[in-house]
Amino acid sequence: MSSILNHKQPKLLSNYDSVIVSYSNGIDSMGALHWAVSNFDKNKIYLIYADTGMEYDCNISLFYAAASFVGVKLILVAHPKGFLRLLLEERLKFPDYKRRWCTAYLKADVIDKWIRQNRHILGSKCLFISGERGDESPKRALLPENKYHRTHLATNRIAEFECHWYRPNLPLEKGHMFEKAVILGLPPHPCYQYLNRCSCMFCFYMKDEDVIKNIIRYPKEAKKWIQAEIKLGHTWKAKQSLTALWQKCDELGEDAVA
Ligand code: SF4
Repeated sequence: MSSILNHKQPKLLSNYDSVIVSYSNGIDSMGALHWAVSNFDKNKIYLIYADTGMEYDCNISLFYAAASFVGVKLILVAHPKGFLRLLLEERLKFPDYKRRWCTAYLKADVIDKWIRQNRHILGSKCLFISGERGDESPKRALLPENKYHRTHLATNRIAEFECHWYRPNLPLEKGHMFEKAVILGLPPHPCYQYLNRCSCMFCFYMKDEDVIKNIIRYPKEAKKWIQAEIKLGHTWKAKQSLTALWQKCDELGEDAVA
């Protein structure tokens, strides 16, 4: 714990009432969970999972299994409309690098809402932990290791609630995350058998060849998003459509499954 006490403001504490770990079943969130259980009493830890609605079918059961196996409390949150309805009824365009509304609406907002509604069980000092690593991208490398969380209250006018946000994985490499998952006894998500990153199934950050792998494995799920493209007249990416990738799967046949 002493190693984390020298960071910039806010100064991290050793006596948080509650610790929230943002969890996605990805290997980095396992690293974050490992840090939390290594530094705090499990009774204080809440594992929070935001179901975006573009998830692998095993995700929720994996989340429940992880929380139960490690012995921490679990919180499952979701936007009432989910990804597809939010896309079709409100946003009308797929998210992209500049308008990453999926993260804001389907993850950050629902998590923040839960925190604000549950300050009474979280106590007056809360630590929020997320698993970003600096070597994932230049943008991530610039993220602060610790800062005030969006739900932090600067005054006691509404309530006394100090909430710090810590990213323990920022200086670490991906290999370390797999090592920490082994220590926790948690198996990596099955998608790591053929993908480098565990994200939403058709995340716009994915390479075309990786999306093809998911289309092949989850055709029924892929069709929902292809139909959304057709309905909206807006493609998944500016220069690529899921419809075109679906057609490519047909051309590639069994080679696409590799
Ligand atoms: S994983 Fe991709 S699609 Fe899912 S919320 Fe994050 S940026 Fe959006």
